[in-house]
Amino acid sequence: MATAAVSELQEMLTLPGDAVRQIQWRFADRFDLQMLVQSARGVARGTVARLVAAGERNTHEWTPGKNEMMEAFDRAGLTATFMEPEEGGFIVGPKNLALALSAFELAWVDAGAATASLAGFLALAPIHERGTPEQVSRYKSLSAPPQPGEDRKPWRGAFVLTEPIPYVGVDTGMLSGKVRLADWKEGEEPWLQVDKRGRFITNIAFANFVTAAVISDDPRIKGSCFVILEETDEGTFDHGTPTKKLVHQLSSTGDPIFNLKVPASRIVGGYTVKDGVIVPNWNHGEVIESVFRRTRVPVGLMTAAKLLSAVEPVIRYQRGRFRGAEGARPGTVRYEQGIQQREDALHRLVDVWATGEAATSLGLATARLFDDLDPIEKRKNAILTERGINGGRAELKALKESEQRAIELLSLEPDSARRQDLEADPLVQYVLMDSAANVLCPATKLWNTGHGANLLREAVSLMGGYGITEDCPGFLGNKWMDAQLEATYEGPEAVQRRQLTVTMTSEIFLAQFRAWTAEMRRIASDRPGTGACTLASAMQMWQWTLGHLQRATDPEGGKLYHGQRQGVTFVLADALCWLMASRCQILDVLELEARGPEDPVASEGLAGTVQFLSDLCHTQAAAAAGEVSRICAELVFGYNQHPSWDEEAHTNCFLASELEEYEETMPGISAMAVDVLGADGSHPQKAGPCAGCGGNSDFLRLQSKLMRCLSGARLAKDRAAETVSKVMIPEALDYPA
Ligand SMILES: Cc1cc2nc3c(=O)[nH]c(=O)nc-3n(C[C@H](O)[C@H](O)[C@H](O)COP(=O)(O)OP(=O)(O)OC[C@H]3O[C@@H](n4cnc5c(N)ncnc54)[C@H](O)[C@@H]3O)c2cc1C
Repeated sequence: MATAAVSELQEMLTLPGDAVRQIQWRFADRFDLQMLVQSARGVARGTVARLVAAGERNTHEWTPGKNEMMEAFDRAGLTATFMEPEEGGFIVGPKNLALALSAFELAWVDAGAATASLAGFLALAPIHERGTPEQVSRYKSLSAPPQPGEDRKPWRGAFVLTEPIPYVGVDTGMLSGKVRLADWKEGEEPWLQVDKRGRFITNIAFANFVTAAVISDDPRIKGSCFVILEETDEGTFDHGTPTKKLVHQLSSTGDPIFNLKVPASRIVGGYTVKDGVIVPNWNHGEVIESVFRRTRVPVGLMTAAKLLSAVEPVIRYQRGRFRGAEGARPGTVRYEQGIQQREDALHRLVDVWATGEAATSLGLATARLFDDLDPIEKRKNAILTERGINGGRAELKALKESEQRAIELLSLEPDSARRQDLEADPLVQYVLMDSAANVLCPATKLWNTGHGANLLREAVSLMGGYGITEDCPGFLGNKWMDAQLEATYEGPEAVQRRQLTVTMTSEIFLAQFRAWTAEMRRIASDRPGTGACTLASAMQMWQWTLGHLQRATDPEGGKLYHGQRQGVTFVLADALCWLMASRCQILDVLELEARGPEDPVASEGLAGTVQFLSDLCHTQAAAAAGEVSRICAELVFGYNQHPSWDEEAHTNCFLASELEEYEETMPGISAMAVDVLGADGSHPQKAGPCAGCGGNSDFLRLQSKLMRCLSGARLAKDRAAETVSKVMIPEALDYPA
């Protein structure tokens, strides 16, 4: 499939390097991000790797060693990633991709280190998203690392939402943290009394301030809000005891207790006073929504990084497995190839690698989408404010019209003049991006971490006993276990699935999904080796199934696609994530193929790299198709009652005596009849007559097509496995074991 413009070599000789990745992941023209990646990598493979190797994960306590890691983040500029240049940062504009890349590099070695780095930004995020200009300026400047020559320790923050059971966890609406009026003198700023206990709060051992979710316990304060609490405020700021975590031990986690008196100006985003009542400008739900929407993406990238980081250690282990044994002399297959002589070992590693590629592509595509969305969202707000619309129902109504325009846009030919008009409309751009982001963010968090954790187990198993020891190169055992936390915090799988079940059914998302399906077919006609056709068929099946389930009922007449029916909605959301990941993976390989030849480094051996990465796409598309087909078939058929052998249900069966008669006029019919009843009522030994598929023949047609689309997928996997068995790797891992 590679074009003649690239090198003649068809086999990938070395692991994909930075030049290839920068093109695939679209930051080849962002020098600031390339520098950030190098800085994060230096800390990860230096300070962080040494801490892990020295056993710092074996204690729950906050140690001088772990503190040294935070200081290394400051020195490397990582702590400044979130800040604007005037606040002490160095990246101009949106920072979603920057944060994602930084988390990716740190998690390549240890996800706890990545979490420790991100938690400070999570604390600042409510302020960044919804804070007043004064709040933004104060807390971001205080949290920025000191400039050269400046004698100051940066403030550290923590984000405090989760509370001791039975309050907030998945259900963020159930708050027990309370805010009351402490003091309100005529004409002066009111003072608040804040009473909040946290559970599992990251960064808490050393936090100087926290942003905490609380609900009013006072008729003079309306609803809920986020408040900023500082260590030196009047009252109790108890950092609490460390949580006895099994994971991410390089980050600090604990259960703090706060009972503090603070000015009302600490309400995130400010407040107004209406009829003597303090009304926060943003309730805690609105703040959480805008925060998690972005911060969940880097979490998904942590697991993706770990999957890709497993490739090199596993290859090295497999190849060296028999070296030193009597019969394995240099030059023999046993010596040179070790376990890589065996197809299963190679195929399983290909699965891990392909999943890591897809997860990274999905996560970084989502981060880039948020970078594009951020300025458009600001424009949307400005346009609507100009029209006198400030959020709420009026905004929804105003955007409805833009949604219809966006749907029209998706149906137009590429060169139509109307299309250009619609494309230039910022509100149309906004609704398109927003609806995609509403799906891609939870998809990244859910699929990368949940399915990623399963594949990390697979990676660990490829290292045999070594995999589950502390000595395992690449710390794979830690990475596997850590993935479960990535799947849990910032809202576990149920939260992501719940969001997907709503956002994936929006008219505008489904219109885009249809366009993406057509796009995959177009790609397939030029690049059949990517598995794009398989993916398009699976996408078609998913969309058909959603439509079917939205209309279908169970035998009792109950609606199948319904908020309460998670058995239907959640699994369909899972299926969608596979499709989204595979799509992003294919698009990234096409980008590499198109832009690689211009780059002096990436162009070397490009054809082989593109071939290999395409084979991984094909492998992943086939896995996605299998998953989607399994899930959809179970949902489409599984809610039909299976016929039984009773009088009523077997009326469609043949009687044995009837068949004998028919055989005279229709020779061969007996061979076709599967449900034949004997004269004494006896029947074949099975659950009942085969279930009819009335109304579902469309589905069977789609499924039959999809199965045929799998042609070539295993050939691609074989080719990828062959490359894995030959690709050169460095002599030793570049960070300690
Ligand atoms: C190491 C660590 C660090 C953390 N850091 C922070 C932090 O800095 N700040 C902070 O505020 N919080 C933090 N958390 C808390 C974390 O966000 C929560 O633990 C997480 O959101 C899950 O909530 P929960 O533990 O109450 O789980 P539960 O709500 O009890 O969930 C248990 C299970 O039930 C399922 N479930 C729950 N509700 C539903 C439903 N409606 N439908 C279907 N299934 C459902 C869940 O998917 C899950 O599988 C941290 C947690 C850990 C372990």
